[in-house]
Amino acid sequence: MMTDLALQATALREQLNQYAHEYYVLDAPTVPDAEYDRLFRALQAIEQAHPELQSPDSPTLRVGGKPLPQFEPVTHAVPMLSIRTETDVTAQGALAFDASVRKELDLLELEPAVEYAAELKFDGLAINLRYENGVLVQAATRGDGATGEDVTQNIRTIGQIPLRLKGVAPALLEVRGEVYMRRDDFAQLNEKQLAAGEKTFVNPRNTAAGAVRQLDPNIAAQRPLSFYGYGLGDVAGWDVQPDTHAGILDALAEFGFPVCDVRAVVQGGAGLAEFHAKVAALRDELPFDIDGVVYKVNSIALQRQLGFRTREPRWAVAHKYPAQEALTTVEAIDIQV
Ligand code: NAD
Repeated sequence: MMTDLALQATALREQLNQYAHEYYVLDAPTVPDAEYDRLFRALQAIEQAHPELQSPDSPTLRVGGKPLPQFEPVTHAVPMLSIRTETDVTAQGALAFDASVRKELDLLELEPAVEYAAELKFDGLAINLRYENGVLVQAATRGDGATGEDVTQNIRTIGQIPLRLKGVAPALLEVRGEVYMRRDDFAQLNEKQLAAGEKTFVNPRNTAAGAVRQLDPNIAAQRPLSFYGYGLGDVAGWDVQPDTHAGILDALAEFGFPVCDVRAVVQGGAGLAEFHAKVAALRDELPFDIDGVVYKVNSIALQRQLGFRTREPRWAVAHKYPAQEALTTVEAIDIQV
């Protein structure tokens, strides 16, 4: 039985590492995300139940993929982490996250509720933008979380990203956010490709990720990319740094970054569940793809208290929706844990 499980864990690791390479390094996934997530959770379940089967090459311990050698490496001053995905896609997932936060904070009563910032999980590519004295000096991908790729030239071609911050800029400000492609821009791009007799692109996420990681900035400049800010990296000399996540997002908007309006500050697990349901209802009308919502503890002081696990913060979680993608060309791998 044990050997069976060990073999299953090895098979899952190999399969997931292969999928992760295709997704993160080649920008060309061969399976739907829901299938990747399913196998990932299965491996996590085996490793949690049998820690002796954990292995250092497990994708459950890693962030993203290796940076491509064609780009200059950038060591992140503050690591760019992953976000844990809540396994329960129903409203219960929101309550489970709230319960885990309260447990970590030793808050045994439901009241007062923990305050959360709830936002969309944009389906694109994470970027770290470094501003020194208000001027954009470097843009880097997440890479493996510790080291990313220098994609400054390509990022400079995105009109929505300020080259200089508005207002009084801190000495150093790293802004994190998602480069993505709107659905209408994606459709238009494919029409152009067709008209030119070129190959069409498969989906907005991988087209955006591929464009940011182009070696030729002229090609990146021709791809219609958009950006939303959602957080900070390294910061120095910011006298009035907000003490909540929602306050940080407001500040990013004032510095000139696009920040998505579909966000809310809510109280407790019930508030999160309500946001999850609200976004589910408007998901199809959004002009861009999302792969769920993200909940973050709003107080920065509480975020610091909660800290991090190996590859993810304890103060944030991604809450997805039941899978919509159908498995067409790829057979689902059968697993029993
Ligand atoms: P993650 O699930 O670890 O979440 C972190 C990422 O979320 C950040 O790096 C950022 O890019 C993004 N993000 C979007 N909105 C955000 C917000 N509001 N706040 C903070 N971060 C936000 O991200 P990941 O490692 O990029 O994985 C995403 C998904 O990629 C996985 O759930 C999986 O489904 C998919 N994936 C698919 C395959 C495949 O073969 N199909 C392979 C690997 C990963």
